[in-house]
Amino acid sequence: MNKFDITLVGAGLSGPLLASYLSKRGYKVDLYERRSDMRKAPQGAGRSINLALSARGIKALRDIGIFEKIQKNLIPMKGRMLHDKNSNTHLQLYGQNKDEVIYSVSRSFLNISLLDHVERQKDIQLSFNHELTDADFENKKINFGDKAISFNRLIGSDGFTSQLRNLMLKKEDLKFRKKPLGHGYKELTIPPSLNGKYKMDPNALHIWPRGNFMLIALPNMDKSFTCTLFAPMKGVGSFEKIKSSDDILFFFETEFPDTIQLIPSLVDEFKNNPVGKLASIYCEKWNYKDIALIMGDAAHAIVPFFGQGMNASFQDCTVIDSLIDKNSGDLGAMFNDFGTNHVENGHAIANMALENYIEMRDSVNNLDYKKHREVELLLERRFPNRFIPRYSMVSFHEIPYAEVYRRGEIQLDLISKFVSGEISEVKLNEEIIKNLSLFV
Ligand SMILES: Cc1cc2nc3c(=O)[nH]c(=O)nc-3n(C[C@H](O)[C@H](O)[C@H](O)COP(=O)(O)OP(=O)(O)OC[C@H]3O[C@@H](n4cnc5c(N)ncnc54)[C@H](O)[C@@H]3O)c2cc1C
Repeated sequence: MNKFDITLVGAGLSGPLLASYLSKRGYKVDLYERRSDMRKAPQGAGRSINLALSARGIKALRDIGIFEKIQKNLIPMKGRMLHDKNSNTHLQLYGQNKDEVIYSVSRSFLNISLLDHVERQKDIQLSFNHELTDADFENKKINFGDKAISFNRLIGSDGFTSQLRNLMLKKEDLKFRKKPLGHGYKELTIPPSLNGKYKMDPNALHIWPRGNFMLIALPNMDKSFTCTLFAPMKGVGSFEKIKSSDDILFFFETEFPDTIQLIPSLVDEFKNNPVGKLASIYCEKWNYKDIALIMGDAAHAIVPFFGQGMNASFQDCTVIDSLIDKNSGDLGAMFNDFGTNHVENGHAIANMALENYIEMRDSVNNLDYKKHREVELLLERRFPNRFIPRYSMVSFHEIPYAEVYRRGEIQLDLISKFVSGEISEVKLNEEIIKNLSLFV
C-alpha cells in the first residue's frame, strides 16, 4: 500500500498548486513530472513565455501563501492598447476601478516559485523525469515506463495532452471532444530600448486587431515584451502563406507597420520560432469512479483569448479544496462531485474564450462594440450589485464561469435590444432588476 494519500501526475502550473492545497490539509502527496527539473536545466520552447494572471489565480496563490512573493514580479495591465494600421493607439480600460487590472507574469517564474514552494512542504514528494505511461485503475497501479508504483487516489494535472485522460478514456466514455481552432500562434520579441526602457506602455496588453488575425504583446520584467501572432493555419493571411523573408516583411509592414521598428529580429524569429496549434478540450465527466480525476488543462484546455486557462486551472484547485470540506473529507465523494458538478464551468470558460477571440481580433474596432461597452459601464455604475460586464465577472471576480455565462447572455440580449432601439431605457432598467438577481 502506498503511504501517500494522493498521487498527482503533472507538475506544470496547477499540479504543484493543488499539491500545496492538499498538503496544507495534512494529506501526503506524491507528485510526478515528465520533464526534468526546470530549475536545473533550461527548457525548450514552452507554451507561451508570459501569462495574464487575474482574480481566480490570485485567490489560489494567496490561499497557499505565495502570492506576496509572486506579487513583486507582476506587471499590472489596466486595459487593451489598440494599435491601428496607421500606428495610432487607443486605450480601452478593462474595468472602472483602478484595482480592476490583470497582471503579466512569467510562466517559468511562476512554475519555479510553485516548485520551490512544494519542495518546502514535508508532506509532498516531488519526482522529475517520470512520464506516466500506463494505469491499472482497479489494482491502483500506475506505470512510468518500466517503473510501477501503487496509489490510493490519482489526480491528473498533466495538461492538454493528458495521458491520464487517455487512459481513463479506455475505461469509460467521458464524451471527450477536441475542437481544433484552425488558428495557431507564434511568439516574437520586442526587446528593451537601447537605454534599457520599455519601448511601449508596459501597463497595457497591446493588441493589433486585424479581423481574421491579430498580434498581441505582454510586458516582461526585463523591459521586453513578448508578442504573439494569432492567425489561421491555412488560407488568406495564414501561417502557410507567410514563409520567405519578403513575405514576412510585407505582411508586417502592411498589417502592423509600427512593429517593424519594435521587433529587430522579426525575420529570424518568425522563421525559427515554432507555430503552436490551438484547440479546446471538452469532457462531460472528469473522474473515473472514486479512483482517478483530471483537472486543469487535462480536463478543460481552452484557447488563450480570455487569459483564463491557468486561472481556471488554479480555480479548480480552490474548488477541489472546498469540496473536500463539503464531502466531509471523503476524497472519493469529492472526485465524483468535482468530476460531475464542476464540468459546466469548464465548458462555459471554453466557450467564452472562443467568443473572446472574435472580440479581440475584430469587434473591439467596431462602433456597435464601443456603444455596447459604454452602456455596459454605465449600467455597472447604476446597478453595481446586479450588473457586472462579462469581462469583469471573468477577470475580477470568482463567480463560477457557468453563472458568468448565464448572466452574460442576459446582459448581452438586453443591451443589444436597447442599442437597436427595441427597448427603452426605462424598460432596460426594469428588465435588469427583474432578471439579474442581486450579487450577495
Ligand atoms: C499561447 C498560450 C497563451 C496562454 N496565455 C494564458 C494567459 O494569459 N492566462 C492564463 O490563465 N492561461 C493562459 N494559457 C493557458 C495556460 O498555459 C494553461 O491553461 C495552464 O498551463 C494549464 O495548467 P496545467 O497545470 O493544467 O497544465 P500545464 O501547465 O501544461 O502542465 C502540465 C504538466 O504535466 C506534465 N506532463 C504531461 N504529460 C505527462 C505525463 N504523461 N507524465 C507526467 N507528467 C506529464 C507536463 O510536462 C507539464 O509540466 C495560455 C496558453 C497558451 C498556449
